[in-house]
Formats: sequence, C-alpha cells, structure tokens
Amino acid sequence: MEIMDGKVTSFGTFFLPGPTEVRQEVLAAMLKPMIPHRSVEFEELFASLQQGLREVFLTRRPVYIAAASGTGMMEAAIRALPAGPILSLVNGAFSERFAHIAEMCGREVDRYEVPWGEVHPLDRVEDSLSKKRYRAVTATHSETSTGALSDVRAISDLAHSHDTLCMIDSVSGLAGAELRFDDWKLDYVLTGSQKSFALPSGLAFGVASDELVELARKAEHRGVYFDIVEMDRYAKQNQTPATPAFSLMYALEVQLGFIRREGIENRWARHSEMLKATSSWLDESSRRLGIEWENIVRPESRSPTVSTIRLPSSIPGREFVKKVKAHGIQVATGYGKLGDTTFRIGHMGDHDVSTLQNCFAACEQAIRD
Ligand code: PMP
Repeated sequence: MEIMDGKVTSFGTFFLPGPTEVRQEVLAAMLKPMIPHRSVEFEELFASLQQGLREVFLTRRPVYIAAASGTGMMEAAIRALPAGPILSLVNGAFSERFAHIAEMCGREVDRYEVPWGEVHPLDRVEDSLSKKRYRAVTATHSETSTGALSDVRAISDLAHSHDTLCMIDSVSGLAGAELRFDDWKLDYVLTGSQKSFALPSGLAFGVASDELVELARKAEHRGVYFDIVEMDRYAKQNQTPATPAFSLMYALEVQLGFIRREGIENRWARHSEMLKATSSWLDESSRRLGIEWENIVRPESRSPTVSTIRLPSSIPGREFVKKVKAHGIQVATGYGKLGDTTFRIGHMGDHDVSTLQNCFAACEQAIRD
C-alpha cells in the first residue's frame, strides 16, 4: 500500500483496457525538470529511449516518439502512403477508425468487415487482395473493442505477396502480445503509451521499414506533424521534429528499465497467463455462481491483453461495472454497441495473475449483489 497526496493507493484496482495502472516509480519520474530539447542532454535521453524501444518492437529501425495518442500515429500511417486504394480489415471499433481516418485523409477505402469478436479468415483476405490492386492494407493486431487478436504476421505476408503494404495498429497489443518487427518483415506498426506499456497516456510510438520511408517521400499531402519522413530524419539524429513531451519521456525511460529487466518474451508470457487465468476463472465462476458468462471471442483468437465478457441477459453491462466499482475495482463497459451486454477486463501492462484475483473477486461479488 502506498500513500500519495494523503490518499491511500494500492496497485491492482484499475483494469481498463487502457489507460492501465501505472507504477508509482514511473509516475514519480515525471517530477524531473525540463531540459532544452536541442541539447546533448536530450539527445542522450532520446538515444537511451531508442535502445529500450527497439527491444520492445524487436527492430533495428528508429522508433518514432510522438507527443500524441495512438490515433495520431494511425493518421501518420495513412499519410505516408503514396496514391492508391486501401483495403481496411474491420472487425471492431478501432479497425473501423483506421478506415475512417483513411477516408478523412481523402483515400479510396474498401472495407472487408467481419462481425465484432471475429477475425478475418486468411483465405478471404487473400481473395480480397487478388481482386484489386491495393496500395496498402490496414489491420488491427489486438482489437480493443472486442479482445480479438489478428494474425498480423500472416496478413502482412499475404499483403506482400500482392505487392501491397500492411499498416498495423498494435495499440493494445504491443508490449503484451508477440510482435517482431524485423523478423516478421513488417512495414509499419504503431502503438500508444497507455496500454501494455503501462505508461500515462500521451505518447504514441511508430516504426516504419526503410522501404516505407522511401515510398513515403513520394506521397503527397503528408502534412507536417504526422509526417514519418520528418520523424525518421529527426530520430536518426536523436531528435524529435517538434518540442517533445519531456515528462512522459522520463516516465518512459524508467518503464523501459522495468521492461528490460523482465524481458520482452517473459512479458508476453505473463500476458498469456493473464488471459488463461481470466478464461479459467470465467468457466469456474459460471459453475459457482450458476450463471452463463463467457469471452465473446473464440479461444484461438483471444488477445492476451483484453477480454470482453458477455453477461447474462438479466444483467445490464453499465450497471454491472458500477457495482464492481462499489467494491473498489475499475473494469470497463463494453465498447459502443456491446455496452449493454458485455464488460471488459484489461489484463495488460503491469498487472499479473495475482492482481487479477482482486478483479475476479469484485466481479463475483457484484454478481452476488
Ligand atoms: N487502436 C486501438 C486498437 C485502440 O485500442 C485505441 C485506443 N483505445 C486506438 C487505436 C486509439 O488510440 P488513442 O485513444 O490512444 O488515440
């Protein structure tokens, strides 16, 4: 238990699928003073962040650090693409957002939609790619609105076999679900700070292949703030194009130290264990409580970072979340159209199977109430 501003806080009460709970040591790092951003001191900080971030993305490429949320780096993905139609794989709210951003940036977009909770069958993705020549596919690794995990490596390989780029949103995946940028020969991956990285919200990260950056030079209307060509140029000099979010970077530096000590593969394994514990708990508590509740995603496509759980029809989702809160635990309502019938547990970041027990106990108590 820790005391902050006279209030007792304890880690293990906040289970949103982003933002997730942030360690006190990471929050405390943000109290450090500002430094000049065009300075050796900043370049040293940036270089050390690069080293840590590369160990998370598993890449030798520069990792762009934007003072933005994940949506900003989604827009950067679209703006980097030279002319040509885009195929958006849509299976929830955030994959739909990717398609929407592309449209709002003036692109021709075809959506291949499957029902929320499902992933796209790869043979059908192949069919879509065969029917038309696309410049790029957009894909969402961990669809946070449902908890479905897509095989982005296979999707990227399929795209490449059609000479198409693949732009991957891994906002709730990266640092919790396996992703290997270099080995999987990916083109572009973006994420945000507030999910499996377990940092405060406000930073977004992106990595682009060398080939994508070269192609992006030919893209028109790349804008300024989300132009990966500029981000790439500055990152190679350990700089950011605009004033960086120093305080968040100090937090990142400390958290990257924790991530390095854990090891990225161990971090993925811990997230898989949390998913397994959540699925087992749902089975066991169904019997104990005499109710039916289950993850809406089939076992083979579940994200290790977030579970969306269908409630018995007699229990409204938003009421349930309030009742859980009354027991000191924050879980999330279902997203959008799933709000009335489901709730979500974010088992991501620095949570583990033991902190999850608090969450399970409060959910069971809410049902008993
Ligand atoms: N994509 C996914 C998969 C997300 O979960 C989110 C945030 N919930 C976003 C994109 C958008 O990120 P942000 O809210 O950080 O802009």
